[in-house]
Amino acid sequence: MIIVPEKEIAGLVTRADAYDAIEQVFASMSKGAAYNFPVIREAIGHADALYGFKSGFDRDGLALGLKSGGYWPGNEKKGLTNHQSTVFLFDADTGKCRAIVGGNLLTALRTAAASSVSINHLARKDAKILGMIGAGHQSAFQLRAAVEQRDFEKIIGWNYHPEMLPRLAEVAEELGLPFEAVSLEQMGANADVIISITSAFAPSLMDAHVTPGTHIACMGTDTKGKQEVEATLLARATVFTDEVAQSVTIGEAQHAIADGLIKQSNINEIGAVINGTHAGRSSDDEITLFDGTGVGLQDLAVASSIVDLAIEKGVAVEVDF
Ligand code: NAD
Repeated sequence: MIIVPEKEIAGLVTRADAYDAIEQVFASMSKGAAYNFPVIREAIGHADALYGFKSGFDRDGLALGLKSGGYWPGNEKKGLTNHQSTVFLFDADTGKCRAIVGGNLLTALRTAAASSVSINHLARKDAKILGMIGAGHQSAFQLRAAVEQRDFEKIIGWNYHPEMLPRLAEVAEELGLPFEAVSLEQMGANADVIISITSAFAPSLMDAHVTPGTHIACMGTDTKGKQEVEATLLARATVFTDEVAQSVTIGEAQHAIADGLIKQSNINEIGAVINGTHAGRSSDDEITLFDGTGVGLQDLAVASSIVDLAIEKGVAVEVDF
């Protein structure tokens, strides 16, 4: 069995590797060759923690396994990340444990790769202004991955806690792009692509803010009750997602579905666009919205790439297990 410790991940996997793994697994999901098992997530009644498993099997990539982890709010005081996760991969032919891979950086990379895949396949080719809603831990990863998909000339940002915006400004500077803090009205009027990555339970971006032709990646809503954009926006947009079952239950679409504004059949798989069975954006005026709920198969796909790279570069720890 192979162990790839968390500290090795940054030196192994590139954003391009993560992008390729995520694009491949979304395509496999849409072909029916890969599927996620039901998610388990529990408040464990200790340390205020939420703990659970995301798991699945990709017959194309032969990735079988699970990501185990959750949220420990008291960790920061102990010098640890609040979100903790570990990926376990199993040999699809024998069931033997194949690898244990640190899952913290991996989660950020695979989540950023998902919105990046959506931008590549759905945003207008001439997109120039990237809008960011959210300035937390994930936002920096989202921003770095997104700018690789189009010739963006400027980053604009809004955050519920404005004091966190310097994080976006610093990443924009690192990327050599100008950054401006804006209102949500300005964001909607000017951004060609908007990424929303917050932990909000009420919408920030409203339907009236958004202008035709925008691509929106809603990446924060991954739990029942969370919401980042007004539900009527989903009725105006063409909606895409990683997995329809998650989109309607724990994703951004849960609210539009509950309010009867859209039907499950209105939600399209991003994998279908990748496979060419859905045309994707049909005009420069269309609003496209990607509901990135985060599936276990994303974790397994990137973890598998990491294991291959760790073996190749000789940093995999081998254990007789
Ligand atoms: P974080 O705690 O570092 O940042 C939270 C962000 O949400 C900040 O920008 C904060 O200002 C904003 N926020 C908090 N309360 C808000 C409110 N009431 N209204 C609007 N904004 C508010 O979190 P993070 O690690 O950056 O993660 C952000 C979200 O992304 C979380 O909800 C997390 O569960 C989700 N997430 C999703 C996936 C996925 O695959 N879809 C993967 C990882 C994380």
